[in-house]
Amino acid sequence: MTVKQFQAESKRLLDLMVNSIYTHKEIFLRELISNASDAIDKIYYKALTDESISFNQADYFIKIEADKPNRTLKIIDSGIGMTQAEMEENLGVIAKSGSLAFKKENELKDGFDIIGQFGVGFYSAFMVSDVVTVISRALGSDQAYKWESQGADGYTIEPCAKDTVGTEITLKIKANTEDESYDEFLEEYRIKSIIKKYSDFIRYPIKMDVTKSRLKEGSEEEYEQYTEEQTLNSMVPIWKKNKSELTKEDYDNFYSEKHFGFDSPLRHIHINAEGTISYKAILYIPEKMPFDFYTKEYEKGLELYANGVLIMNKCADLLPDYFSFVKGMVDSEDLSLNISRELLQHDRQLKLIAKNIKSKIKSELEDLLKNDRDQYVEFFQSFGKQLKYGLYSDFGSHKDVLQDLLLFYSSKEKKLVTLDEYVSRMPEDQKFIYYAAGDSIERIDKLPQTELVADKGYEILYFTDDVDEFAIRMLRSYKEKEFKSVSSSDLGIEAEENKEASDAEKQENQELFTAMKDLLADKVKTVKASKRLKQHPVCLSNEGELSIEMEKVLKAMPN
Ligand code: ADP
Ligand code: MG
Repeated sequence: MTVKQFQAESKRLLDLMVNSIYTHKEIFLRELISNASDAIDKIYYKALTDESISFNQADYFIKIEADKPNRTLKIIDSGIGMTQAEMEENLGVIAKSGSLAFKKENELKDGFDIIGQFGVGFYSAFMVSDVVTVISRALGSDQAYKWESQGADGYTIEPCAKDTVGTEITLKIKANTEDESYDEFLEEYRIKSIIKKYSDFIRYPIKMDVTKSRLKEGSEEEYEQYTEEQTLNSMVPIWKKNKSELTKEDYDNFYSEKHFGFDSPLRHIHINAEGTISYKAILYIPEKMPFDFYTKEYEKGLELYANGVLIMNKCADLLPDYFSFVKGMVDSEDLSLNISRELLQHDRQLKLIAKNIKSKIKSELEDLLKNDRDQYVEFFQSFGKQLKYGLYSDFGSHKDVLQDLLLFYSSKEKKLVTLDEYVSRMPEDQKFIYYAAGDSIERIDKLPQTELVADKGYEILYFTDDVDEFAIRMLRSYKEKEFKSVSSSDLGIEAEENKEASDAEKQENQELFTAMKDLLADKVKTVKASKRLKQHPVCLSNEGELSIEMEKVLKAMPN
């Protein structure tokens, strides 16, 4: 028997993995249990598509065995198992996921809630073990194989005996060191709590022999210990549980378990809708922007389950584009399983769910804005642009959903404010909502055009995103107040007598203005005297629909 080397990359990865990817060692159990559950799902899937295989729910389970004296922890499953080749492929190459391949191969048929996809989870076992032994017999094979590895040094594979189809993983738990304890991973209570924490909704029973005590037969006070097999997980998926049973930690765990993000979400929304359409959903508002969020690669969508079975990983139709940052899942009994993906897109039920979800997200964001301003600002800094794009696209038809979720920097408050806050403190004589567009707050502060408006004591909203002015144009007005750029030629402020004076001045300097216009040629349309300047000698203003800033943005766009 020769010792095979892990591929070079694998070696380095394994080192990285063991030392840094996971902060909590305890997740090794979650990973191995997920793999076991995936393996059972695969048999279940095969049974659905192959009549010669039967699936009897009672035969499928995951079993945990802890042996303190020998320092071993076993994770046993009655799943699909691995052939020798599959062991080589999936356990010998890090970042190679047999489960992902399985999902891809079966892409056209209904998917399942197979968790694996990254091909790294298995190696987390080395965080707590010196030796990992995998004995597995694949479905349809009589021969079992034993894979064994002590970590970075490579692995061995040899034939061995196993009576039943499935996989048995044995971890030789590390000895305690000065700063790290590993004993805990052999403790019953600890194993129980890790499973409860991470794997409670695994759909197959996770069993373990637990120690209990009872009164000795015939005795009134003498107790004896005995073991009893117990199922440690409740198997009910988190979304089918009562909100009152769940803690923030449960929701956070589900978020990371599902790989919705590496952050911890700002808010979760647990919906249990009944009535015209019944569905359950858990949605999250992330804290941090995914690195690819504003790129073409980013795919929006929610996981869609029909009666507990995953049918789509990213159902885009469930989320409007402007809420594309929302993560989560929807489960409905009203969607029939055999419905094709295409039909699903036009499904009336799905539309109803989407509409319902949209309003739930809206109210959640409004609630965040109202009750936790700091968090909302954090949220807005990540995803505000998306809301503004939402307003701009579809010609402002999402106005009702979005206008109260917007924030803009205010000249008065020196922080982000809502349109409602702006309008509610407008002086009576102020007719418009004023804004100034520019590259940054500092640059807008220096704009001569802001002077007159600021001098009147009016608040100015600073538009620093390219999309701001375009979005606001779609709104046209807010609470019957129209928006006005400080660089527009008619600010709606100048009093009549001032205008006349300005006409007089215009006459006076006509020669100078003509000379200036000649000099600037095509760069400006006219040169005239302005009443709005205080400390600055000159400023630009625009006539017509497009503001100077909008023209700049449009010019910068590729044709
Ligand atoms: P992932 O689960 O993301 O695919 P892992 O590193 O956890 O990655 O596992 C790698 C692969 O090894 C899995 O995709 C699967 O093909 C195989 N595997 C791991 N554990 C088992 C198991 N208990 N039964 C069958 N196959 C398994
Ligand atoms: Mg895995």
